[in-house]
Order: sequence, then C-alpha cells, then structure tokens
Amino acid sequence: MTVFKPNRREMMKLAAMAPAFALPALGVAAPARAQLGAPASANPTHFRFTLGQARLTILSDGYFSLPTAGLGVNADPADVRAFLERHYLSPDEGYSHTNHLLIEAGDAVVLVDVGSGSRFMPTTGRLMANMEAAGIDPASVTHVVITHAHPDHIWGIRDDFDEPLFPDAEYVIGAAEHAYWLQDDLVNKVKPEDQQFVLGAVNSLTLDGVDWRLVADGEEIVPGLRMIATPGHTPGHMSVVLESEGQQLMALGDAMSHAYTNFAHPDWFNGFDADGPQTVATRMRLLDMAATDRIAVLGYHFPFPGVGHVLREGESWRFLPALWQFEG
Ligand SMILES: [Zn+2]
Repeated sequence: MTVFKPNRREMMKLAAMAPAFALPALGVAAPARAQLGAPASANPTHFRFTLGQARLTILSDGYFSLPTAGLGVNADPADVRAFLERHYLSPDEGYSHTNHLLIEAGDAVVLVDVGSGSRFMPTTGRLMANMEAAGIDPASVTHVVITHAHPDHIWGIRDDFDEPLFPDAEYVIGAAEHAYWLQDDLVNKVKPEDQQFVLGAVNSLTLDGVDWRLVADGEEIVPGLRMIATPGHTPGHMSVVLESEGQQLMALGDAMSHAYTNFAHPDWFNGFDADGPQTVATRMRLLDMAATDRIAVLGYHFPFPGVGHVLREGESWRFLPALWQFEG
C-alpha cells in the first residue's frame, strides 16, 4: 500500500490551499442569554468513579466551539435553532467538551482517544496536563484505543518533537478506519475542506514508533473491554464497551456527539458525519441497546464529564446525566 506521508512543508502548503477548515470565526457570537456565565476560577478537569471492579477517570482535553449550522443538517434550520433555544443552548455557537475515558482494570490501563495535541485548536490539547493533574503517569498506559481518526481524537498522538506520547502502549483502532484513511490518494478524492483532516489522519496513523493493532467488530482488547463497530460518523468508527461485575459502560466516541439533539431527534445528522443515514442507523441501534440493557454511556462531546443513561420516551430518547456521588 502506498502511503501518502506529506512532510511539514507540504502540509503547510496544502493547508494554505485549503483554508476551508479554517476555524470558523470563533468568539464572535455574543454569549447566549440562557447560558451560564464564564467560570470564576478553574474548574475540575478530571472526574473519577467506578464500574464494578474497574476504576474510571474522565479526563478533559479542553473544549471547542463550532457554529451550530453544522447540527442537524438534514433538518429545517429554523427547527434546529428553535430546539437549541428551547434547551437553553446558543442557537449560533456550539460548545463541545472532550471527555476521555481512562480505564484501570486488572493490570491494564486503557486510554480512549488521545485528543487534539498542540496543532488543532488553542482551546484543546490539554489532555496530558490534565492527566498529570489527576496523578496519572503516562508511562503507565498499557493500551491506547482510538475511536476514529478525526483531529480532536487522534492528532494528540504525538508530542511537539513528533514522538508518540505513550511509547510503551499498544495502539488499537478499527481495521476499517485504518484502511479508510490510508487508502491510496484519499487526499485527492475528498472535498478541499476535508483535506486537512485526511493529512492529519495519515500523519497520525503513520507516526514512527506506533504499531497498530487493527480490530474487528466485537473484538476484546483486554478482559471485559471490547470494541464494537459504530460506523457513520466516519467509515470505520468504533465504540468501546466495558463490562465489570455485570455493569456496563459504553464510550460512544462520536457515534453520538450532542447530548440533546442526538437523543430528541436521533434522525438529525451533522455536517461532520461522513454518512448521515448510516450515522442515524448506528445511533438508533446504540440508543436501543443502551436503554434496553441499561448500559451507561459516555459522550466524548457531551457536557463534562459526559456520563449518563438513556431513557426511552416513545419515539425519541433523553440523556440522563449520572447522579454523581461524593467520596464517602
Ligand atoms: Zn469529535
């Protein structure tokens, strides 16, 4: 397989040619009336809880804002705006958290996704600092599991010297996702505004020092932890299911990216969903599975820490944030 591996100068050249991913005019929208004000001091950036025998930590990589025009692109924009306003959200600008799951189970320490690193947005790339603040030694991570190869999930694979951040870990990704981004000449098959995503994915997936374990639907990574195929948002997107002592939690990745629209209107898909109808079909399956089997879910972009349950309400659904407990 020929792998297109652009060097930094080519990247810059292509980036200059394709400014479309160009960060939307951030910070221009006035704060929505309904939203809470800015924090008065630093807020917590990690959260710990347990699932059976497993010790879980949610670690933030920061946040980013994108125009809400990318939400529900197959719906009437007026309906989307009205929905957001009714839910006390800005109708103009979204706010996405980035909730990483770190699982300590037996001898394994598994990190789900590696965040944006320092080359994506100024408000992201905080995973390593927040991991340090949580007292987690990066060298202790035994497995890095990637849900999909979008920038906010994989560009953080390298440090500023292009070395892998978790040199001793086993790196895991869906075989279909790996094959999609590394197919011949993908960069010239996609729309110009998607070229940076392709280059970033290729650069991340071909990083020296990382050997990938490519997995299929249902494959177990460590005892109690398996990956399931959840395609649509990207062609080989996978989610992570953890089971311990009869309790289950599913790290959705971006199979669901909005804690409100994706539940109330599961048939609305987003601009960044590669295959809208497939995204919707996958989401319906996940919602039904989570509600039926009472599986807790973690949304990578849901409000921090992003963990809760799925309530079936007739034809639609509702996300119920988990009720947190203080330490005894
Ligand atoms: Zn994402």
